[in-house]
Amino acid sequence: MIENKVVVITGASSGIGEASARLLARQGAKVVLGARREDRLKAIAESIEAEGGSAAFVAMDVTSPADNDAIIRLAEDRFGCVDVIFLNAGLMPTSPVSALKTDEWNAAVDINIKGVLNGVAASMPLFLAQKSGQVIAVSSVAGLKAYPGSAIYGGTKWFVRDFMEVLRMESAMEGSNIRTSTIYPAAINTELLGGISDPTAAAAMKNLYSQYAISPERVASVVSFAIDAPEDTNINEFTIGPTSQP
Ligand code: NDP
Repeated sequence: MIENKVVVITGASSGIGEASARLLARQGAKVVLGARREDRLKAIAESIEAEGGSAAFVAMDVTSPADNDAIIRLAEDRFGCVDVIFLNAGLMPTSPVSALKTDEWNAAVDINIKGVLNGVAASMPLFLAQKSGQVIAVSSVAGLKAYPGSAIYGGTKWFVRDFMEVLRMESAMEGSNIRTSTIYPAAINTELLGGISDPTAAAAMKNLYSQYAISPERVASVVSFAIDAPEDTNINEFTIGPTSQP
């Protein structure tokens, strides 16, 4: 049941996060949007409200624990609780290891790994106090299989996979009623390729995406499905991509 659920979404200013916010709001959820580009968040929240939905937003950087606490506080202040945190913010700076793009390696670790940890750390106390909650995180098919160029990006997404599976097991063992879902997208048509600075890697990805990518609304429907499942049912994992992508 989605109606009236309060859903916090990181990386809501574009792509999968934006599509999920719009779909969930249309389905009656109260969405709380976070990302760094405040102008985008404002425009998306205003357009959701213009369609009769409920949305709040705050500029935040997932690498900051304080910003993660702030978005949870905003959700509580504005809508009274948090039912779901959708840990979606991410960066995909693919490149060969030999290019030694160490700044990008650090950014990927900070955003894709620490961003997820910060979101869980901010929401878990509330979920435990409420005795309910749901964590949905975006990994990648690069978190399931090794691809040249994806040593660091794929590594961050393997981390998400492992972390979410352990979180799921521990939540079940502890009887905390926290539901957990991990989504593994393949090529989705978003702004993600903009984070690739290596020209060879960028050209290869552009070629792949120009052939296969599907719209982020498809992933949003999976997020919606996981939230809509009955409370006694956990959608553990979902791999989703273009039918035609090998
Ligand atoms: P986009 O680039 O469109 O969206 C990424 C989002 O993350 C943006 O809203 C961006 O907002 C936000 N973001 C990035 N860094 C930060 C930060 N430090 N703090 C807060 N927000 C941040 O790409 P997608 O929608 O595709 O990406 C969403 C997720 O899906 C990512 O985790 C990505 O790895 C994953 N994924 C995507 C695939 C694809 O093919 N598109 C395939 C597999 C996985 P802002 O810049 O405003 O902060």
